[in-house]
Amino acid sequence: MLREFFPNTNAGAKLYSGFLHHKDCFCKIFDMKNSISEALIDINDFLESNGYDSADAESFDEFNIYDRKPVSISPHGYQEQFVLTIERDKIATPQLGFVCQELKKFRDERDWGQFHNPKDLAIALNIESGELLETFLWKDSKDANIEKVKEELADIFSYALLLADKYDLNIEEIVLEKIKKNGEKYPVEKAKGISTKYDEL
Ligand SMILES: [Mg+2]
Repeated sequence: MLREFFPNTNAGAKLYSGFLHHKDCFCKIFDMKNSISEALIDINDFLESNGYDSADAESFDEFNIYDRKPVSISPHGYQEQFVLTIERDKIATPQLGFVCQELKKFRDERDWGQFHNPKDLAIALNIESGELLETFLWKDSKDANIEKVKEELADIFSYALLLADKYDLNIEEIVLEKIKKNGEKYPVEKAKGISTKYDEL
């Protein structure tokens, strides 16, 4: 499935620690390290988490250039770095992969991965859902503090992403699968405008 990550501005590009060479070309610099294969670990992490095919060392030419549209990789700065270039042409990628990558970076910088087992992530997700409910407690929906709702939703999504990651699940895929399943359980002709559960339809 194609997903859109392409940053629209240089400010957006900075989120991905890169820059827009021009409006249709995103660039990001990676250290060459000791070998192409070593540099490729970081480059491929970035590509894969944004929905692109990874690059393999054998596909580099004699000048250390990789060119597989929309992705190209070439030496930069006296061979000490690589520049990864992604052209907007034919692309589209997930924001979700990038968000998950940032969440894991935040977690790992604090060495919190040791606490993030599936059970505790599920509990944390539930607690955050409770905090979301609290924003509505004793008041009309319209009076809930939207800033608070935003924060709790962010917490819920964060734990959901981390939990899905634990099982190597692709969020887009599992949600789309579920929509399909629900479509079968609740055919429009039977369920339209009715809140009855599927087994009573
Ligand atoms: Mg919270």
